[in-house]
Amino acid sequence: MVQERELLTDEEAVADVVTETVHHEAGHALADALDLPFPSARAEEDAADRFAALMLIREGPDGERALRTAAEEYLRAAAADPEPGPEHAPPAERAATHLCLLYGASPTRHPDLSPRAHTCTPDWPTTRTTWTEALTPFLR
Ligand SMILES: [Zn+2]
Repeated sequence: MVQERELLTDEEAVADVVTETVHHEAGHALADALDLPFPSARAEEDAADRFAALMLIREGPDGERALRTAAEEYLRAAAADPEPGPEHAPPAERAATHLCLLYGASPTRHPDLSPRAHTCTPDWPTTRTTWTEALTPFLR
């Protein structure tokens, strides 16, 4: 089933971006609470982005829409200023990762993203497994 791309109001788009940001921050909170080891601040930022993608993809179509809206916002930010924010990946890279994971999780719903399928490392199965294994001891 192909997911139709709906036109969002500005309010819906802002809500989607905020939703992605909240999940990203939740990823940081979990990393801190669980004392997950990261080799660098940038590695933790990347993991928080992947946590946001994982949580939004798990929510189904609404979450997928929020992830995609956030990725589109990163692309807009990249066009305005390609430099990375403090500690984050450059916005174009953050967008590419979100869109690649979205495609990897559900290629039939997002066939238009197939050209992006090769752009994320780690890929969707690795991202899902890594976070799931990190959280398993705490899920009872
Ligand atoms: Zn962050």
